[in-house]
Amino acid sequence: MSFNASRDQTQLQLVWAPLRAQAEHMLRIMQGWLRERPTEQEKVEVHVASTWRDPAEQMVLFQRGRTRVNGAWFVENPKQIVTKAPPEETAHCCLTADGKPASLAVDFVILVDGKWAEDRDPRWALIPAAAALVNAEELEPGAFWNEPRDWPHVEVRHWRTHAERRPKS
Ligand SMILES: [Zn+2]
Repeated sequence: MSFNASRDQTQLQLVWAPLRAQAEHMLRIMQGWLRERPTEQEKVEVHVASTWRDPAEQMVLFQRGRTRVNGAWFVENPKQIVTKAPPEETAHCCLTADGKPASLAVDFVILVDGKWAEDRDPRWALIPAAAALVNAEELEPGAFWNEPRDWPHVEVRHWRTHAERRPKS
């Protein structure tokens, strides 16, 4: 996948409008930080990696490696697991009341020479830092989660209470 400014904008169009404005602000802040400290050996960029996901597609991903028994999901093959969350459990799958995409989460990516930065790259910390600067009360970075830590992810805190924007099942 190639990341660039026009793809960032396309992705941001699928975000709930108030979060979109905050995510755009975060992007500008992080780009500014990277410009202030250019590295000679590497090219470091930040982009929007992903925003809205179709609930049906998320369900297909969730089913990988799992089996359903008596209405509950069980992990059958841990190696095939690609996501912990069914559509109703992820802020990426939210819709407006009239069924339009309105992601309540944004995943950013730090690219080093065009590739995803390694997990231990300290520059991932730019994402939670920018979220805190833009709106520490409303934005919850996945960087603070324990299992697993999700560096790229930022979501609207308490997004489940935005009932009208919950995904339709
Ligand atoms: Zn995410």
